[in-house]
Amino acid sequence: MPSPLAHLAAGSAFAFFTGKTGNLRTSWRIWAVCLGFSMAPDADAVLGILQGSLAVFHNQFSHSLGFGIVLCAACLPLTRRMLPGWNVRGVFTLTIVCFGTHLLFDWMTYGRGVMLMWPFSSARFQSPVQVFHGLRWSEGVFSSTHLDTLINESSVIACVALAAWGLRFFLKQKQTTH
Ligand SMILES: [Zn+2]
Repeated sequence: MPSPLAHLAAGSAFAFFTGKTGNLRTSWRIWAVCLGFSMAPDADAVLGILQGSLAVFHNQFSHSLGFGIVLCAACLPLTRRMLPGWNVRGVFTLTIVCFGTHLLFDWMTYGRGVMLMWPFSSARFQSPVQVFHGLRWSEGVFSSTHLDTLINESSVIACVALAAWGLRFFLKQKQTTH
Protein backbone atom coordinates (compact mmCIF):
# COMPACT_ATOMS: atom_id res chain seq x y z
CA MET A 1 0.00 0.00 0.00
CA PRO A 2 1.24 3.54 -0.62
CA SER A 3 1.97 5.67 2.43
CA PRO A 4 -0.60 8.25 3.63
CA LEU A 5 1.42 10.81 1.63
CA ALA A 6 0.07 9.56 -1.72
CA HIS A 7 -3.52 9.21 -0.46
CA LEU A 8 -3.51 12.65 1.17
CA ALA A 9 -2.06 14.17 -2.01
CA ALA A 10 -4.98 12.72 -4.01
CA GLY A 11 -7.50 14.02 -1.44
CA SER A 12 -5.81 17.43 -1.51
CA ALA A 13 -6.08 17.54 -5.30
CA PHE A 14 -9.84 16.87 -5.16
CA ALA A 15 -10.28 19.47 -2.40
CA PHE A 16 -8.23 22.00 -4.36
CA PHE A 17 -10.24 21.61 -7.55
CA THR A 18 -13.69 21.45 -5.93
CA GLY A 19 -13.16 23.83 -3.02
CA LYS A 20 -12.70 27.07 -4.93
CA THR A 21 -15.85 28.63 -3.54
CA GLY A 22 -14.27 31.69 -1.96
CA ASN A 23 -16.01 30.66 1.26
CA LEU A 24 -13.29 29.72 3.74
CA ARG A 25 -15.71 27.90 6.04
CA THR A 26 -17.01 25.69 3.24
CA SER A 27 -13.54 25.36 1.82
CA TRP A 28 -11.98 23.78 4.93
CA ARG A 29 -14.96 21.47 5.16
CA ILE A 30 -14.29 20.24 1.63
CA TRP A 31 -10.68 19.59 2.64
CA ALA A 32 -11.86 17.62 5.70
CA VAL A 33 -14.29 15.53 3.60
CA CYS A 34 -11.79 14.88 0.78
CA LEU A 35 -8.87 13.99 3.06
CA GLY A 36 -11.11 11.90 5.32
CA PHE A 37 -12.54 9.78 2.50
CA SER A 38 -9.17 9.48 0.78
CA MET A 39 -7.82 7.87 3.95
CA ALA A 40 -11.01 6.08 5.10
CA PRO A 41 -10.14 2.54 3.88
CA ASP A 42 -6.95 2.60 6.00
CA ALA A 43 -8.91 3.18 9.22
CA ASP A 44 -8.60 -0.59 9.65
CA ALA A 45 -4.84 -0.11 10.19
CA VAL A 46 -5.59 1.57 13.54
CA LEU A 47 -7.35 -1.60 14.69
CA GLY A 48 -4.44 -3.67 13.37
CA ILE A 49 -1.87 -1.59 15.27
CA LEU A 50 -3.92 -1.72 18.47
CA GLN A 51 -4.29 -5.49 18.16
CA GLY A 52 -0.62 -5.93 17.20
CA SER A 53 -1.45 -7.68 13.94
CA LEU A 54 -1.56 -5.32 11.00
CA ALA A 55 -1.74 -8.06 8.33
CA VAL A 56 -4.88 -9.62 9.86
CA PHE A 57 -6.89 -6.40 10.13
CA HIS A 58 -5.43 -4.11 7.47
CA ASN A 59 -6.39 -4.18 3.77
CA GLN A 60 -9.38 -6.48 4.09
CA PHE A 61 -13.04 -5.76 3.20
CA SER A 62 -12.63 -2.01 3.87
CA HIS A 63 -10.72 -1.90 0.57
CA SER A 64 -13.74 -2.81 -1.57
CA LEU A 65 -16.14 -0.86 -3.76
CA GLY A 66 -19.11 -2.40 -1.91
CA PHE A 67 -17.89 -1.14 1.47
CA GLY A 68 -17.14 2.27 -0.08
CA ILE A 69 -20.67 2.65 -1.45
CA VAL A 70 -22.24 1.67 1.90
CA LEU A 71 -19.89 3.97 3.86
CA CYS A 72 -20.43 6.99 1.58
CA ALA A 73 -24.22 6.45 1.67
CA ALA A 74 -24.24 6.00 5.47
CA CYS A 75 -22.18 9.17 5.95
CA LEU A 76 -24.46 11.30 3.73
CA PRO A 77 -26.37 12.94 6.64
CA LEU A 78 -23.00 14.12 8.04
CA THR A 79 -21.26 14.97 4.76
CA ARG A 80 -24.29 16.93 3.49
CA ARG A 81 -24.20 19.02 6.66
CA MET A 82 -20.49 19.61 6.12
CA LEU A 83 -21.02 20.80 2.54
CA PRO A 84 -23.96 23.19 2.59
CA GLY A 85 -25.19 24.05 -0.90
CA TRP A 86 -24.18 20.68 -2.33
CA ASN A 87 -26.88 18.25 -3.42
CA VAL A 88 -26.95 14.57 -2.46
CA ARG A 89 -25.56 13.40 -5.80
CA GLY A 90 -22.64 15.86 -5.64
CA VAL A 91 -21.67 14.92 -2.09
CA PHE A 92 -21.94 11.19 -2.80
CA THR A 93 -19.91 11.52 -6.00
CA LEU A 94 -17.15 13.51 -4.27
CA THR A 95 -16.83 11.03 -1.39
CA ILE A 96 -16.94 7.88 -3.55
CA VAL A 97 -14.34 9.35 -5.95
CA CYS A 98 -12.00 10.09 -3.01
CA PHE A 99 -12.60 6.60 -1.59
CA GLY A 100 -12.23 4.98 -5.02
CA THR A 101 -8.93 6.77 -5.68
CA HIS A 102 -7.54 5.17 -2.52
CA LEU A 103 -8.52 1.74 -3.88
CA LEU A 104 -6.99 2.62 -7.27
CA PHE A 105 -3.67 3.61 -5.66
CA ASP A 106 -3.58 0.46 -3.52
CA TRP A 107 -4.40 -1.62 -6.61
CA MET A 108 -1.38 -0.06 -8.36
CA THR A 109 0.98 -0.88 -5.46
CA TYR A 110 3.39 -3.74 -4.84
CA GLY A 111 1.81 -6.12 -2.31
CA ARG A 112 -1.05 -8.59 -2.01
CA GLY A 113 -3.67 -6.64 -3.96
CA VAL A 114 -7.11 -5.45 -2.84
CA MET A 115 -10.45 -7.20 -2.30
CA LEU A 116 -12.24 -4.92 -4.75
CA MET A 117 -15.33 -7.10 -5.24
CA TRP A 118 -16.09 -7.97 -1.62
CA PRO A 119 -18.73 -9.16 -0.48
CA PHE A 120 -19.27 -11.00 -3.79
CA SER A 121 -15.73 -12.31 -3.89
CA SER A 122 -12.73 -12.30 -1.56
CA ALA A 123 -10.34 -12.48 -4.53
CA ARG A 124 -7.57 -9.91 -4.50
CA PHE A 125 -6.90 -7.75 -7.54
CA GLN A 126 -3.64 -6.09 -8.48
CA SER A 127 -2.58 -3.94 -11.38
CA PRO A 128 -0.15 -5.59 -13.83
CA VAL A 129 1.85 -2.34 -13.66
CA GLN A 130 2.89 -1.41 -10.12
CA VAL A 131 3.32 2.33 -9.93
CA PHE A 132 3.90 2.53 -6.17
CA HIS A 133 6.73 0.88 -4.24
CA GLY A 134 4.45 0.79 -1.19
CA LEU A 135 4.98 1.29 2.50
CA ARG A 136 6.48 -1.96 3.79
CA TRP A 137 5.35 -2.22 7.40
CA SER A 138 7.08 -5.57 7.85
CA GLU A 139 10.48 -3.84 7.51
CA GLY A 140 9.93 -2.03 10.82
CA VAL A 141 9.64 1.66 11.60
CA PHE A 142 13.27 2.57 10.84
CA SER A 143 14.20 1.07 7.49
CA SER A 144 15.95 2.47 4.44
CA THR A 145 13.16 1.00 2.29
CA HIS A 146 10.90 3.82 3.57
CA LEU A 147 13.22 6.24 1.79
CA ASP A 148 12.52 4.39 -1.49
CA THR A 149 8.79 4.76 -0.74
CA LEU A 150 9.20 8.47 -0.11
CA ILE A 151 11.21 9.06 -3.31
CA ASN A 152 8.81 6.94 -5.39
CA GLU A 153 5.65 8.65 -4.09
CA SER A 154 7.11 12.15 -4.27
CA SER A 155 8.10 11.49 -7.90
CA VAL A 156 4.64 10.17 -8.84
CA ILE A 157 2.94 13.11 -7.11
CA ALA A 158 5.29 15.57 -8.84
CA CYS A 159 4.56 14.00 -12.27
CA VAL A 160 0.79 14.10 -11.70
CA ALA A 161 0.96 17.70 -10.41
CA LEU A 162 3.08 18.71 -13.41
CA ALA A 163 0.61 17.05 -15.80
CA ALA A 164 -2.33 18.80 -14.07
CA TRP A 165 -0.51 22.14 -14.20
CA GLY A 166 0.34 21.58 -17.88
CA LEU A 167 -3.25 20.70 -18.72
CA ARG A 168 -4.53 23.79 -16.90
CA PHE A 169 -1.99 25.98 -18.68
CA PHE A 170 -2.92 24.44 -22.06
CA LEU A 171 -6.67 24.98 -21.45
CA LYS A 172 -6.06 28.60 -20.34
CA GLN A 173 -3.96 29.27 -23.45
CA LYS A 174 -6.67 27.76 -25.63
CA GLN A 175 -9.30 29.96 -23.98
CA THR A 176 -7.31 33.17 -24.57
CA THR A 177 -6.67 32.37 -28.26
CA HIS A 178 -10.43 31.94 -28.94
ZN1 LIG B 1 -5.28 1.29 1.81
